[in-house]
Amino acid sequence: MACDFSSLTNLDPTDPDQANALLQQCTAALTDPKLWLWAIVFTIACAAVGALIGKYKKAIVRDAILGAAFGPIGWIISLCMPVAKLKRACSGCKRVVDSGDKHCRYCGASLATGATIGAGKS
Ligand SMILES: [Zn+2]
Repeated sequence: MACDFSSLTNLDPTDPDQANALLQQCTAALTDPKLWLWAIVFTIACAAVGALIGKYKKAIVRDAILGAAFGPIGWIISLCMPVAKLKRACSGCKRVVDSGDKHCRYCGASLATGATIGAGKS
């Protein structure tokens, strides 16, 4: 008896031994190490593709997690999200500004030089 829908529909409800055999067959199928190996490999592959998308979107960790959690749907979510802007501290007032800005939005200081402090949201 294989663990599939035809076995379930043909199951004799008055025979507990047959139901028990089917349950054990399905339990063995779910705990098969090959199934789990494929699930882990597929999850890692989806996370890797998500990380590649995240490299373009400047959010590698975010998109790798989305890819691992949702697979191809996570890739689509990643592709629909905006590119993350890098942030840095203003040399004048020390507040956080976008690294692409030429002048600080708070104090007006020129931002020609300054250290990037990491990726932030949009
Ligand atoms: Zn400033």
